[in-house]
Order: sequence, then structure tokens, then C-alpha cells
Amino acid sequence: MLYQSDVAVIGGGVIGSAIARELARFDISISVIEKNLDVVCETSGRNSAVVHGGFAYDRGTLKARLCVEGNKLMDQAAAELGFPFIRTGKVLVGNTDEDMRQLERTMEQGFDNGASGLEIIDGKKLHELVPAVNGSFAMLSSRSGIMDPFLFTIALAENAAENGVRYFLGHEVKSIERRDGLYHIHAGNDEFEVKWVVNAAGLGAKHISDMLGITGYRVIGSKGNYLVLDKRLGPLLPMPVYPVPSNTYMGIHVTPTVDGNVTVGPDAVNTDDFSYYGVPADKMLYLQQSASSLWPHIDRADVIRTFSGILPKWVDENGVIQDFRIEIRDEIAPNAVNLIGIESPGLTATIAIARYAVGLMLERCSFKKRSDFNPVRSRVKHFSAMTDKEKEAAINSNPSYGHMVCSCEDVTEADIIEALHNRLGVSTLTGIKYRTRAMMGGCQGGFCQTKIEQLIERELGRKPEDVRYMGPDSWILSGRMREGKND
Ligand SMILES: Cc1cc2nc3c(=O)[nH]c(=O)nc-3n(C[C@H](O)[C@H](O)[C@H](O)COP(=O)(O)OP(=O)(O)OC[C@H]3O[C@@H](n4cnc5c(N)ncnc54)[C@H](O)[C@@H]3O)c2cc1C
Repeated sequence: MLYQSDVAVIGGGVIGSAIARELARFDISISVIEKNLDVVCETSGRNSAVVHGGFAYDRGTLKARLCVEGNKLMDQAAAELGFPFIRTGKVLVGNTDEDMRQLERTMEQGFDNGASGLEIIDGKKLHELVPAVNGSFAMLSSRSGIMDPFLFTIALAENAAENGVRYFLGHEVKSIERRDGLYHIHAGNDEFEVKWVVNAAGLGAKHISDMLGITGYRVIGSKGNYLVLDKRLGPLLPMPVYPVPSNTYMGIHVTPTVDGNVTVGPDAVNTDDFSYYGVPADKMLYLQQSASSLWPHIDRADVIRTFSGILPKWVDENGVIQDFRIEIRDEIAPNAVNLIGIESPGLTATIAIARYAVGLMLERCSFKKRSDFNPVRSRVKHFSAMTDKEKEAAINSNPSYGHMVCSCEDVTEADIIEALHNRLGVSTLTGIKYRTRAMMGGCQGGFCQTKIEQLIERELGRKPEDVRYMGPDSWILSGRMREGKND
């Protein structure tokens, strides 16, 4: 099939979806081409979920500037899009004289970057803020926070879609050609003919850049592994606790999640394999031992899950990590926005990155503003967030609210059905998980995964063998053992 639009955004992660949403403010047609079956399968769903203050990045860099801007824009984004975001504050904990000097340097750099809410605090204040931490003093960043990276990305994508952006999931871009002033993109079994291309392909961005003719970038992967701890420990950690950072690595930290769990990590292991997300047992032990010196409450028995993410780091010929690169190379690939090395703090900087990218486009053409763009995502309250009175009313009007599917996270059949009819047409098990939190509790889907699989079959009319866990090849069932109504 041939699709035509003004812009094709390649990559529907947090950056591509934010750019698509920014572009939807204009009277143009936009397609997002995404190789996975959902928008949070890669880096946007695999990170610490910390909204950074902007002090850890070299002065004068885009990382510093867009992080500070993105941090400021997060309150409005959360209000419009309805994803959890909490300005918890965060501490960088030290013990030695050299730690203190490094924290002071970090704080000065932060002020120069335009960050606010930074101060050195003594051990007494540190222990008032985080009673269960090991450390003699700290730098407090009161403007830092935590958020739900799944719902942030999904909300950006859904709001973009509500404003007319078309998502093409399961479409891997294989080639791009420029002919007669238009880009011809081959993705999945379809062709796209567009005036503008935005390369927001994350770990695949170098590959897309090469397809555009912008060659020579060297991007390495830095893999970070994590442990997820049971909600039992959440109350002991009111804010993220970090060690003293370097300018290239934040160190293994402990972070509360917006839902009350705690994550431990990441380490940083260079990798060429951008698709292997397994967490080896020795890394689990290393994370536990390393973070325990900061926060001595990490017990293997509380680990309910592991996960990992891979940072795309643009490096020079000597391996030195470079800044974000957001460019239009008019002489090589006119009308193509190229984003390279969008590693941390990409999540924090998301909205600022999107505005910067769209700003580059607007310097070269004039898109007409739409008057009917709606920045507010429509959403339905989850059962677990309702008051008792609201729950009663919900069950009376829709009995599916009375069928509990995931008891760990209080997710009902009605919540699952609502998520299954999402704007993007996502129908994987992880798609339901990230939208509802079903399968994210202590049992990790042991009790509810099969029920959800059956709901996907029933609601979407799928055969068991057509249901996927996350990726295009992640089959769960190969078919029925027996046919019959009592099976
Ligand atoms: C371990 C770790 C910790 C982090 N912690 C933080 C943090 O605490 N705070 C913070 O601000 N940032 C953090 N980050 C950084 C942040 O997560 C990223 O900067 C951000 O998610 C990048 O988003 P993205 O949309 O560019 O990438 P992605 O989410 O990877 O999106 C790119 C999309 O492009 C698609 N794609 C790739 N190739 C193709 C192709 N050929 N055709 C079609 N689609 C394609 C992919 O499937 C993917 O969905 C962390 C990252 C990692 C890995």
C-alpha cells in the first residue's frame, strides 16, 4: 500500500511521539512509522524514570539546556496528558572530602546550566529527608522527580493520534530514497511518500541516518541492568538516592517508582547488541552489593523482576561521549531532521527536544497553525484510582468493573477492555500491562496473564496463536489442544 503524508516520523518512542504531537499543532498530515507493536518496547520503557535537574551535563551542551527546559515543562505535560509525575527531589550522597568537592563542582555546573533548587545539605537534613540512607552529606536537587515513562510515552502517542497523527506499528523502515523532492520510505509491506522525514529511531537512528545519506556517526550501546523491588520497600525511599556522579555516568542508584516499587541500577556495560535485554545473575548480585552501600535494604527476596535498557551513545573517534545531535543537513538530506545519541537525559528533555526539532523545521518552512489542536488527552480513570463511592457507581453501571483480573494491582476486566481499545491499536500483553499495570505486581502475571490473553481473544476476535507477548515474534500459544464449548 502507498501512504502519502507531509511528515513521516521514524520511531514512535517518547521522542518520536513528542515530535509527532508538536507537529500535530500544525495543519499538516503526519505518519509515525514504528517497527515494534507498541511505542514503549525500547529505551523509552527501559530507564530509571527520573526527571533530572540538569546539573550533571557539561556547560553549553544541548543535554544541559534541553534537560533544564524539559524539567520545567514536565508539570504542564503531566497535567495535559495525565501521566504520574512527582517532584520528589533527589539526593546525591557523599562521605569524603573529595565527594564534597565533586558535589560542589556539580552544583556550580548546575547553576551555570540554569538549574534551580540545588543545595548542599548536612547529614542531619539528609537523614530527615531519607531516614534509611547511608551517607554523611548530600547535594539535594529539589526540582528532580520521578514519573511513569510508559504512560508518558503512551499519552504523547495517544494525544498525537487524537489530533490526527497516524501510527503504523510493526513497520520496520528498510530503505529510504529521495526522488523528485520527496522521500520514499519502504517499511513493512508498505511505501510512504513524504515531504519531510524525522529520524527519531533511538538505537536505530544511526542506521536511519545512513539511509538518509548522513553517514559517519559512531553510536555505541551502554547497557544498564536493573532490579525491581517489592512495594513493601517503597515507604523507605521517599526520593531517588544517587552516589556522587561523574559527567558521563550517574552511578548505580535506588529510585522509588510512582507506583511504590523501588528500582536498583543501572550499571553501564558497553554493548554492540542492541536487542539483548536479559539480566545475567552476576549483574543482579553486583547491583545489590553496589547499591547496598547507599541504601542497606536490598534483599534478594524482595526482587520481583529485572529489566534492562540500552543507551545510544554517540562517541567520537576516541570513544569520547558527545552531546545530543539534532540537525538538518540541508546539503545532504534536505527536509530531514536527524536525531542522534538521544541518551539520558532524553526522557526529561522530551518536550524540549521535540520543540527544538520542530523549531529547525519551522526555520525552513511555514506550517499553518491549527485552531482545533487539543493538548489534553482523553482518559478514563482506572478502578484502582477510584474512591469507594466511584467504584460502587462504576460496578453498577458496568459489571465488568466487578470482575477483578489482576489482584496485585487491582485491575478489573473493564480496565483491561478499555486498554484493549486503545487509540494506537496495540493488542499485545505488554501493551495491556503498561496501560493498566496488570501483571506488574508481586506475582508478575502468574495469576492473570492467561485471563488477559483470553480477553484479547474475546474482545478483538483473535485466535490464541495470533496473540503476542511483546514483539512480532513473541508467540505465547501455538493453538488449541481440543475444540469444544467446555474447553
Ligand atoms: C538505562 C537507562 C536509564 C535511563 N534513565 C533516564 C532517566 O532517569 N531520565 C532521563 O531523562 N532519561 C533516562 N534515560 C534516557 C531515555 O530513556 C532516552 O533518552 C529516551 O527514552 C529516548 O527515547 P527515544 O524515543 O529516542 O528512543 P526509543 O524509545 O528507543 O524509541 C525509538 C523507536 O524507534 C524505533 N525504531 C528503531 N529503528 C527503527 C526502524 N528501522 N524502523 C522503524 N522504527 C524503528 C524503535 O522500535 C523505538 O520504538 C535512560 C536510558 C537508559 C537506557
